Formats: sequence, C-alpha cells, structure tokens
Amino acid sequence: MSIAAIETEARNPDLFPDCDVCGTQAWIPVYQGPVRDGAYGNSRDGAVVAECVGCGVQRLDEVSCHDEDIYADESYRELLGESVDSEGFHAAHDPLQLERLNVVDPMTLRGRVIADVGCGGGSFLDFVSGLARYVVAIEPGRPYHDSLRSRGFHVYDYARNALDDCAGSVEHAFSFQVIEHVEAPGPFLSEIADLLAPGGRVTVSTPNRGDLLMNLLPDDYPPFFYRTVHRWYFSADSLARCGRAAGLDPVETRYVHRFGIANTLRWLRDKVPGGRDSLPGLDDQALDSIWRDSLAREGTADTIYMTFEKPVS
Ligand SMILES: [Zn+2]
Repeated sequence: MSIAAIETEARNPDLFPDCDVCGTQAWIPVYQGPVRDGAYGNSRDGAVVAECVGCGVQRLDEVSCHDEDIYADESYRELLGESVDSEGFHAAHDPLQLERLNVVDPMTLRGRVIADVGCGGGSFLDFVSGLARYVVAIEPGRPYHDSLRSRGFHVYDYARNALDDCAGSVEHAFSFQVIEHVEAPGPFLSEIADLLAPGGRVTVSTPNRGDLLMNLLPDDYPPFFYRTVHRWYFSADSLARCGRAAGLDPVETRYVHRFGIANTLRWLRDKVPGGRDSLPGLDDQALDSIWRDSLAREGTADTIYMTFEKPVS
C-alpha cells in the first residue's frame, strides 16, 4: 500500500473513528502490514496501526479488530489455542501470578473490598482473596462464572453490571492485560472509577509499546507485537492520559520484563519468539535478573503497570 493510500485509510472514520480517549479524529499511521491473529504463526495482512494526534494512544484499524463478543464464550481462548475451562486456565495462569503479587507489594489488601476486572478463571483472585473482605470478579467469559461463584466471588460480566451493588465501594481494583482488548478504554476506566471508593486505587497492566524489541527490530517485531485482539497500544504517557480523562490520578508506574536475555537474543538471531527457553551459556538467573531490572529502569520492559487513584473529592 502506498503512503498516500495508508494516509487515506487513517482518515476513514469506519477504520479510525473519533479517538475514544480524547475525542480527536486525527490519526497518523505508524504501521502497515501483517498483524498476529491468535496463536503465533497466524496473521492477518493489510492492517494499519495509527497514533492519535490528540493523546498519543495507538489503535488498530477497526476492520482488523475482533469484536468484543469473542470474550463471552470459548472463541477467544480457542483463537489463542488455549484451554477454555477453569482447570486449564489455572494451569496456564497460576504460575504467572508472582509477577502481579510483586507489583501489589508493599500495599496490603487485608480487610479491603477488591475487584479484578477481566479476571478470567480468577487465578490472581485466588492468591489474594484470603486477605480481602469482599471480592468482586468481573469477567465476560461465561464459561468461568460457575467456578468463580463457587469460590465465593461476586461475579459480573462487565464493570457496569456491578455498579448497582458496588458503586463507590471498591478499595483496590486490578485489571491485568485487559484495556488493550476493549472497544473503548475511556469508558472502560470510567466504569472502574465509578466502582472505586474515594481514595480507592486501580492497578492496570498492558503491553508496553516502548518494548525494547520494537526499537531493535522495527521490521520483524511489530507484526508479532500488533495483533487482532488488541485494539489499543499504550505508552506510559498515553495510558496516564487515558486515566486522567476518566478522572483518575496516576500515582505509580512500574515496568516489568517477563523474559530473560535469551528471549531478546533469540529474537535478534532467529526473528522468532523463544518464550522462556534459554540459550547455551545464557542460562543464568543472576544475569536475567539484572537484564529485567535494567529494562524496567529504562522503561523498555514488555509490560507497563500503572496505578491510579480516585480523588477524595
Ligand atoms: Zn486521542
């Protein structure tokens, strides 16, 4: 596609409607090409990603995005090639929770009203629910609901459905790797803000589009980073603006890198994702720890965790 054609697409309101965060309808194309569609190896051609002139958020063109409906049944997990029942979810996600518990530290959740928005099978809630006074589990995926209820959680499809019972009462909400999927991140954060008590907090995580590999491999990494299930792509700055637009004050930003140095080197050598596999001579936890800390300090780690506070008045 020519530059002129891509710029024409960015002006098409069917592909790039008014920015949901700031209302601007002025998008600058930043990427055109294939994007990941579900599990690695599947892709969709001809997608365009553009950046909002007003607030800096990036989005995938609307035609290349999946509808939000896919999260309500088995479709999304099947697209990813993942298990669709609670047991399978826990097997895949329980081992990932230590990263999230580290980010909770040093806050305590003891005696608090907490919520996890987009909790899936509830792995994170299982780790923290013993401390909490009241646990709200918000998850559009209906296959998980019976299991979530059986563990004593108060279950809702969407945050807006929890407002009658919980508006103004949640003291700490969490939403891990969800905001990039939703149709509209502005209203998404506003609904969470409505659930929060004055002075309550919400911690949001999302992929960092300032990931080191986006700079190191500008041709080979974006077709992996951009994907049909992620409508929105944030930097810390654009995520903070999104929160402020919802009436929330950003109070803390942390970056977390989930992989050791072998993952980056494998990308550079093979141009493929290597997950957590080591490389000969590079299976060194101390080295990986320094690598992760270094990227976290530089803001080039793969994940942003941002905590917002709802003003008291
Ligand atoms: Zn905007």
